[in-house]
Amino acid sequence: MTPGQSTALPDTTVTRQALIEACLWMNERHLNQGTSGNISARVGEGLLITPSGVPYEDLSPDALVTIPLTGQPKAEGPKPSSEWRFHQRLHQARPDMPVVLHAHPPYCSILAVQRRPIPACHYMIAAFGGNDVPLVDYALFGSSELCENMAEIMSDRHGCLMANHGATVLGETIARARWRLEELETLARTYLFSSIGGAPHILSDAEIAEVLVAFQTYGPQDQGERKA
Ligand code: 13P
Ligand code: ZN
Repeated sequence: MTPGQSTALPDTTVTRQALIEACLWMNERHLNQGTSGNISARVGEGLLITPSGVPYEDLSPDALVTIPLTGQPKAEGPKPSSEWRFHQRLHQARPDMPVVLHAHPPYCSILAVQRRPIPACHYMIAAFGGNDVPLVDYALFGSSELCENMAEIMSDRHGCLMANHGATVLGETIARARWRLEELETLARTYLFSSIGGAPHILSDAEIAEVLVAFQTYGPQDQGERKA
């Protein structure tokens, strides 16, 4: 797969159930709470997104809402997540990342309230595409202004903090979005706690560039693939 290539998921019950399971999982793992947060996936020419304000345990596969990739959702039928604008915009900008997951994770939210982006305090920062996890400027939830702020920051990052709000991550798959959300909350906690009793040491841009290269061959490829 080359960057920018579309990787839409099939609109099947399996996909819909996996989206619901991601929501249930993030609440169980204390990465989110209540009806906060939302998830969307690129399917065909449109998006599947969670409905607004519905407890995740009440969701069934047919409760997910289909919205177009551009333009307004249908006026009738179940209401999509109030954050459909930024989901739609991120899918337009990042066809290489067909899953968008937004949550209110406690440690990410503390940093977001303090308006502190996460610097390269740990090499796993590179999982978010660069040498920091940036902070998106505050705007009202669901607003077009928040959508604009998100689009600007996420053009070259796979995750962000959102001022006085929470966090959003992108995923190549639903599983990768889940993984990235948990890594982001772990980074936020590490950064907060590493400030106790001393200043965290921040890795250099060159050190993070090296990690980004090493990530390209990290993981369980077979040896033939690895040599190529
Ligand atoms: P929705 O229930 O409308 O998806 O809103 C939750 C949220 O986190 C808003 O930012
Ligand atoms: Zn939110």
